Amino acid sequence: ATPTAVMVGTGVGASQGVLIKGGEALERARKVNCIVFDKTGTLTMGNPVVVKTKLLKNMTLGDFYELVAATEGNSEHPIAKAIVNHAKKFREDEENPAWPQAHDFLSITGSGVKATVKGREIMVGNKNLMSQHGVYIPKDAGEVLAEAEDMAQTGILVSVDRELTGILAVSDPLKPSARAAISILKSMNIVSIMVTGDNWGTANAIAREVDIDSVMAEAKPKQKAEKVKELQALGHVVAMVGDGINDAPALVAADVGMAIGAGTDIAIEAADIVLMKSNLEDVITAIDLSRKTFSRIR
Ligand code: ADP
Ligand code: MG
Repeated sequence: ATPTAVMVGTGVGASQGVLIKGGEALERARKVNCIVFDKTGTLTMGNPVVVKTKLLKNMTLGDFYELVAATEGNSEHPIAKAIVNHAKKFREDEENPAWPQAHDFLSITGSGVKATVKGREIMVGNKNLMSQHGVYIPKDAGEVLAEAEDMAQTGILVSVDRELTGILAVSDPLKPSARAAISILKSMNIVSIMVTGDNWGTANAIAREVDIDSVMAEAKPKQKAEKVKELQALGHVVAMVGDGINDAPALVAADVGMAIGAGTDIAIEAADIVLMKSNLEDVITAIDLSRKTFSRIR
């Protein structure tokens, strides 16, 4: 393609909300035959909500959510925001919830958070977080978790002084464009893979809903990038689509990194292409544009 054709291609992309940073990214996109998708905020809306609370100890929901929100108030994670929002409903003044002070806050990447509130140690997170700190998970609690996961919800555990005290189910609906995008890619013989830090149960349930080819769950940011490199070593030309800080290494490693426009600045910076409308069908817009710009028949 001539430099003019590349300029035209980039311009057409921009007018459709697909920002392409340079001609090389535009050229590589036409050869993509494998796409790795992040889950949270990429395939899903990324605005989770608490849909269920199960208390295991004799405590009011108000007291429970006060401890949980004081802890999660220090976290930037979308799950933390969902929990704090929900907790406000149990507050006298929703607009000004005035949570108690949390001390010794600690965020454990990929697992959850920990802090001391009103002299008690509070942990909020997944099974890993609990097992790492010796919190026993009774059988019926395990069943509540499995049930949530089966409905594509994420189960979040809460411990108070190392005793399991409550279980929350958090739901993050799929983007309307997710299923269609994966189905179109399939018809183009492009393989779709989901990678997520979330647990296997929830990941598999989401995968069934979008009908994606394969899944990798409980993945740390480094492992997301390693997955991309592994696919490249097998000879695939790999695109990565993600929105989070935790996707940045994989976005850089991919042949074509695509960031969700509504995502974090770090993801947008790490990517070659930005999908401004946060619509997953624009993954196909980008590939089509590349094919049109670089086809010899032009
Ligand atoms: P992802 O963004 O793909 O879900 P993360 O690595 O950010 O991946 O999180 C993995 C899991 O760790 C979450 O699904 C959740 O179970 C747990 N987690 C992380 N941060 C928090 C938090 N602030 N509060 C509760 N759970 C958390
Ligand atoms: Mg994400």
